[in-house]
Amino acid sequence: MTEEPCQCSDCQRFYKEHDRLIREFPTFKQQQELNWASIQSFRTLCNKVTNELQRQLSERESNKDISQEEKYFSAEELTDALDELESVNAYLYSIEALMERIFDTKISNKIESKFKELANELAPDPLNVDRIILNRLFHQTPDFPDKKNIN
Ligand SMILES: [Zn+2]
Repeated sequence: MTEEPCQCSDCQRFYKEHDRLIREFPTFKQQQELNWASIQSFRTLCNKVTNELQRQLSERESNKDISQEEKYFSAEELTDALDELESVNAYLYSIEALMERIFDTKISNKIESKFKELANELAPDPLNVDRIILNRLFHQTPDFPDKKNIN
């Protein structure tokens, strides 16, 4: 007997997001592009924040007049955050190198249709009437559990 998957709100949010990403990006190529863009946007943002914090830290160290906004962070906070972000940036860099290898892979159209077919099974449209009816049958509850989150 398999264990029930956790139903806490964080996990539910994760399942929903997981299924959405399969449903909206059902091919190998779309998953490649999605994940590449996602790594890149994370890296871009982390780098930008790192540069900004470094700038603030060096202004502090050169004893220049610092603006009110920059006093918001203590030197220790800046140093700690920079250490953390530098590790994250290094990890992201490694992931990017691996993603590049995945990005080099090309999949035939025949295999792509298998991806689409299985994506449909894994993550059918939650608003599809059949899916809603099925869910009600499975859960044997009058209310579709995700109802409150459907727009
Ligand atoms: Zn959970």
